[in-house]
Amino acid sequence: MGKVLIIGAGGVGTVVAHKMASIPEVFSEIMLASRTKSKCDAIAEKIGGNRIQTAQVDADNVPELIELINNYKPDLVVNVALPYQDLTIMDACLETGVSYLDTANYEPKEEAKFEYKWQWAYQEKFKEAGLTAILGCGFDPGVTSIFTAYAAKHHFDELHYLDIVDCNAGDHGKPFATNFNPEINIREVTQKGKYWENGAWKLTEPHEIHKPLNYPEIGPKESYLIYHEELESLVKNFPTLKRARFWMTFGQEYLTHLRVIQNIGMAGIEPVQFKGMDIIPIEFLKAVLPNPGDLGENYKGQTSIGCRIKGLKDGKEKTYYIYNNCDHEDAYKETGTQAVSYTTGVPATIGAMMFLKGLWKKPGVFNVEEFNPDPFLEELNQRGLPWHELHDVDLEL
Ligand code: NDP
Repeated sequence: MGKVLIIGAGGVGTVVAHKMASIPEVFSEIMLASRTKSKCDAIAEKIGGNRIQTAQVDADNVPELIELINNYKPDLVVNVALPYQDLTIMDACLETGVSYLDTANYEPKEEAKFEYKWQWAYQEKFKEAGLTAILGCGFDPGVTSIFTAYAAKHHFDELHYLDIVDCNAGDHGKPFATNFNPEINIREVTQKGKYWENGAWKLTEPHEIHKPLNYPEIGPKESYLIYHEELESLVKNFPTLKRARFWMTFGQEYLTHLRVIQNIGMAGIEPVQFKGMDIIPIEFLKAVLPNPGDLGENYKGQTSIGCRIKGLKDGKEKTYYIYNNCDHEDAYKETGTQAVSYTTGVPATIGAMMFLKGLWKKPGVFNVEEFNPDPFLEELNQRGLPWHELHDVDLEL
C-alpha cells in the first residue's frame, strides 16, 4: 500500500521498523536511515526477510535529506530521530513533496525549551503544498492526546479537568538510567513544573507538587507534576478544559541521582573547556549512562499511562479513566526493546498506517487529537497496546 522512510535508529526506531515490517499489507516498502548506518543494518538484519532497506543520513543537513528522499520517494517520512531534527526534516519534506509524522515537538539544542510554535508555524506551507504533518504520535504525546479526543467524542459534552498520569513501575536493575534518550529525558524532567488552570499557565518549582496515585495492576506510586508537551495543544484543541496537568512517577533513587547530576553541573547544555576541547556536560553524561535501547533484557514490570478526566455529560458530572498497561518483558520478547520505546514506536506505526490508509490525511500541520480517534484506537487494541476504560470512579485528583 505504501512506502515509508523511518529516520532514527534508536530504541523507538527499532520498534517502528519491527512493527511496520510485520504489517506488509500496509507498509509494502520500508527504509530505515540514521546517522550511524551500522545501527540500521543491525536492526534490518534482526528483522530479516529483506524487509528493510537502510541508508546513512545526517538529519541536521537539509540537502542530504532532500537527496535521500528524492532517491527513495517515500509516501511518508516518520521522524523518530531527536526533537532537534524536526524542522530540518519538515523543510526537506516540503521541498520534496512528502508528508511527515513525528513523536516529539521541536526543541532548539541551545535552549531546553520545547514548544509547538516552531512547528505550528509550518501550517500554511504544508496546507499550500497539500501535505500532511502529524505531530506528536508516540504515547505521550500521542495516545494520551487520542484518549482525550476519544473521551470528548464518546463520553463527554464538555471536558473540564484532565490529568494525564504516566507510571513506569518497571525495574531495569541499574542504579540510574533513563528510558529514552538521556539528553532529551533529563532536559524534560529537570524543567519547572507547569499546568493549565482557569485560562492561564501556572508554574511550579521542579517536582514541587507530588502525591501517591494508584495505578491499575501496580498500586500506589509517588507521582510528580511536570510539564509535558501535549498539554499545550490539548488546552488549545479542547478549550472547555478548566485544568490540565501531567503526572509522572519517579523513584527516590532516580530523583536523588537527578539532583546530584544537576548540582554538579552535569545536566548543563553550555559548552565547557576540557583539555582544549569544548564539551557539553549533558552530551558527555549521555555517553557514560546506560544506552536506553539496551535496558530491555533485564527490565521487569509494567508501565501504565492514561488520562483521568472529569466533565459534563447530559448535564451531569462524570468521571472517566482510560489507560494502557504495557509489560517490559513482553515488549522485549517482541522487539528487543523495553516498554518505553515500545509504547512510543507502536503508536507511531499506527499513525503512519492511518495516513497511508487515507484516514488521517488532510493538508496542514496537526496534533493527533485533531484526527478521528476511533480507527487509531481500534488498531492500538490489535497491535500490542490494549486499552481499558473505567467509568464514574474516584480519580484521586
Ligand atoms: P535514541 O537516542 O535511542 O535514538 C535516536 C536516534 O536518532 C539515534 O539512532 C541517533 O543516531 C539518531 N539521530 C540523532 N541525531 C541524528 C541526526 N542528526 N541525523 C540522523 N540521525 C540522528 O532515542 P529514542 O529512540 O529513545 O527516541 C526517539 C524519539 O522519540 C525522540 O525524539 C524522543 O523524544 C521521542 N520519544 C517520544 C515519546 C512519546 O511518547 N511521544 C517517548 C519516548 C521518546 P546515532 O545512533 O548515530 O546517535
